[in-house]
Amino acid sequence: MIAARLAYASQVRYRFALRRLCRAERAVVLSYDDGPGRVLTPQLLDLLADRGARGTFFALGRRAAAMPELVDRIVAEGHEVGCHTYAHEHAWRVGAGAAARDVDEGYAALAPWIASDAPFRPPFGKLAPGSLRAIRARRAPVCLWTHDSGDTYPAMPEPDAVVQAVIRDGGGVVLMHDFDRDPPEPFRAERILALTAALIDAAQHHGLALRTAGELLAGTTPHHVAAPV
Ligand SMILES: [Zn+2]
Repeated sequence: MIAARLAYASQVRYRFALRRLCRAERAVVLSYDDGPGRVLTPQLLDLLADRGARGTFFALGRRAAAMPELVDRIVAEGHEVGCHTYAHEHAWRVGAGAAARDVDEGYAALAPWIASDAPFRPPFGKLAPGSLRAIRARRAPVCLWTHDSGDTYPAMPEPDAVVQAVIRDGGGVVLMHDFDRDPPEPFRAERILALTAALIDAAQHHGLALRTAGELLAGTTPHHVAAPV
């Protein structure tokens, strides 16, 4: 219980620091987890290309290995690929060894496309001693998020609610997902595409800069404040 409270407190501190960084830089990061997805990822890439915008794709090693041509396309079109582990283990629920292995196997599977210290986003936003050790050993920055699109919630919020929150906060790292739901849920994919377009429009209107996670975090050591017990 105490460990969980300390971990929660450290994540609150981390999010506060990330929010402050986004506001200071007037930066918006479009981030997509759990992909690639055979249907949604190409649609997103078409949209981003059309708008001249770049995003950060926190890919799962196992999906990247199954769909290498999609990761090739993400990289070829100038986007950033980050690591989201290999199998999406919850670091609080598996042992330290298993959590560290999932991190390292994720980077190994993504090695054709990313550096060994590319940005990392932990599954469920949870770090634990095993995964944190693996991340620190490779000196990779951890990128959580400031605004959750809610695209995995039963009732996904309207895109406008997320956009207004980002504008109000002077920027942010927006969490979205680009894996394909099984069974398909076209309305979620449509909302993710609509939210992406609306965030790009809002950034242009309000003088916010679209950045990748790596660009935002360059020169920072956010994993030091993200350290849970
Ligand atoms: Zn995830």
